[in-house]
Amino acid sequence: MNKIKVFFSDKMTAETRSFSPSAGKPSRVVSSWSKFVQSNQIEVVEPNPVSIEQIKFAHQPEYVDGIFSLLIKNGFRNHDQSVADSLPYTSGAMLSAAREALKNQRVAVAPCSGFHHATWNAADGFCTFNGLMITALTLKNEGLISKLGIVDFDMHMGNGTEHIINYLSLDWVEHFSAGYHFDRPEHADDFLNSISWITGMMKDCDLVLYQAGADPHIDDPLGGFLTTRQLFQRDQLVFSHLSALNIPVAWNLAGGYQDDFNKVLEIHENTMRACIAKYARDD
Ligand SMILES: [Zn+2]
Repeated sequence: MNKIKVFFSDKMTAETRSFSPSAGKPSRVVSSWSKFVQSNQIEVVEPNPVSIEQIKFAHQPEYVDGIFSLLIKNGFRNHDQSVADSLPYTSGAMLSAAREALKNQRVAVAPCSGFHHATWNAADGFCTFNGLMITALTLKNEGLISKLGIVDFDMHMGNGTEHIINYLSLDWVEHFSAGYHFDRPEHADDFLNSISWITGMMKDCDLVLYQAGADPHIDDPLGGFLTTRQLFQRDQLVFSHLSALNIPVAWNLAGGYQDDFNKVLEIHENTMRACIAKYARDD
């Protein structure tokens, strides 16, 4: 069995009070996936944390230092040490998953969120550091990629990602954030039908980072326009198109604010089911 690697450590999870469940999400999601570990379809692997130097590839040095010295508020608008401690590991999971996907040329997973609103020099919307861009810049600086794609299917705009791309003039990053284009139930079919050209835009990329957001759900208080079934179709389409294009993908989580957290877990579990159906196989 070709197991899907999931990069997780308890160190990715922080204790902090917030409307957003994202700080506690990695451990809750991974424990909900334990059935896939037992069935030998996934394997949980320890991520390597990113270094301060790697974080500074994507962020202003003074901002990074201010976050770790707790002088600047993090994305949860507080100064909690536990959030600062988790940050090298959440971005580290994304980078580790990206390295693994490049190696196996298929897929790997970072079960964490809280990246795409973080700009070059500021935290925003529960996001402190932009693990997507830290990953992109680290791989580029190591010469492991020439072009990278980011498919961001969170409900909200990837404004932080866009800011870093523009600030650093990164013409080798192909970024598509659905939040700029789709937000109403009547857009659902258009959105699903667009996935083939969105992934087609990534055809020259060595790797795609896919943010499988849970907040586009129609019942999400900060969402939403897609049903649970349509979100599952979204994930199936992303994996099937990228796989047909032979582009490896590292995916992570985002958003998901429904009161009943089991509904959020169900959406993330469906992404994993779509991933397993496409990529976990007997060789
Ligand atoms: Zn969101």
